[in-house]
Amino acid sequence: MAIPKHYVVEHLDVELEGWSKLEYLTIATETRPPTTTSATSSASNQPTFHLTSLPAELFENLPEELKSHDNLHATMEEVNKLDGLKAEEVCLLDPRAEKDMCPEDGEVFRWFVFGGILGDDPPRDRTAELRKYGFTGRRLGPVQMTTDTAVRVTRLVVEDKIPLDKVPFVDFPELKISKNETTEMPFRYVKREDGTPVMPAGMVDLIKEDSNKGFLDMM
Ligand code: SAM
Repeated sequence: MAIPKHYVVEHLDVELEGWSKLEYLTIATETRPPTTTSATSSASNQPTFHLTSLPAELFENLPEELKSHDNLHATMEEVNKLDGLKAEEVCLLDPRAEKDMCPEDGEVFRWFVFGGILGDDPPRDRTAELRKYGFTGRRLGPVQMTTDTAVRVTRLVVEDKIPLDKVPFVDFPELKISKNETTEMPFRYVKREDGTPVMPAGMVDLIKEDSNKGFLDMM
């Protein structure tokens, strides 16, 4: 029986905006362990998604959907304080790591740590803040992904054993945000059969809203 893996996002942004909420909800839902009746059922009842290093203000005002999600363990503690975590079993997903993630890494690591950072373009290497823990780094190829995409791709590689170069990607997709307006997303995404990017439910609507707001702000 494969050992349950844990996915950790260390929240590094000052705010927890709508984008992050949708990303974290998606991660919590997609990393929920399959319900098992085996001896490890108690283990599989433990949340496998941890949202760490939340400042008190954000922790106390966590959006209801995150607070009530049964697979989301939110804490103000830093990742290295999580129960049962052993540094040698932890992989930091790092855009600057030497080595790309491979399926065999699923037998070596049990914890996969990501930066809770809304991407910037060009990337400013904010993941550097997580290298202080000394965890082993792995890259997911040369292009920046959103946090939920990085978790999705990591799971395809270490849980479904799909080599990174066999995962279907779409880079910098154009999103239609109104009748005659599109916006380019500066990230790599998992590609659906129809060629569209896999994004959290509600994200396209949020992007449309933000862009109209932005438009109104410029008025
Ligand atoms: N702009 C940030 C930087 O340059 O560090 C990256 C933020 S990215 C939106 C959020 C997190 O997803 C990163 O901290 C990292 O853990 C993970 N990630 C994104 N793209 C990755 C890649 N190509 N390789 C490894 N991890 C990646």
